[in-house]
Amino acid sequence: MASCLFCKIASGEIPGKTVFSDDRIYAFEDIAPKAPFHALVIPRRHVARLSELEASDAPLAGELFVRAAAIAKERGFSDFRLVVNDGAGAGQSVFHLHVHVLGGRPFTWPPG
Ligand code: 5GP
Ligand code: ZN
Repeated sequence: MASCLFCKIASGEIPGKTVFSDDRIYAFEDIAPKAPFHALVIPRRHVARLSELEASDAPLAGELFVRAAAIAKERGFSDFRLVVNDGAGAGQSVFHLHVHVLGGRPFTWPPG
């Protein structure tokens, strides 16, 4: 989507610090990290939010989560946190689906 920040990062129009890339998924470092390691895993296809996905998108959703966990494990984190904020009221500020991968510090529960 032409006006979408994360579409622009995934296409290389806006530079990102790449963590992983293939034909369906792109992952890059968050510009304002909330942990020593903080990456965002996104589908290359523009999807505004998780709840827009349909049953036929289950393979893509699974791929995002499996890739997010693999990225954390590759970095040596045995414990880490994956987060999806779905909607403004849940803290979503960029409306292109992304899985946050956070590692390198203890995490508390419940989140804020
Ligand atoms: P959300 O609040 O939508 O769940 O997460 C959006 C994330 O995108 C935030 O953690 C924010 O720091 C990150 N972010 C916003 N703008 C940019 C940007 O231009 N580049 C990168 N790499 N991350 C961004
Ligand atoms: Zn987008």
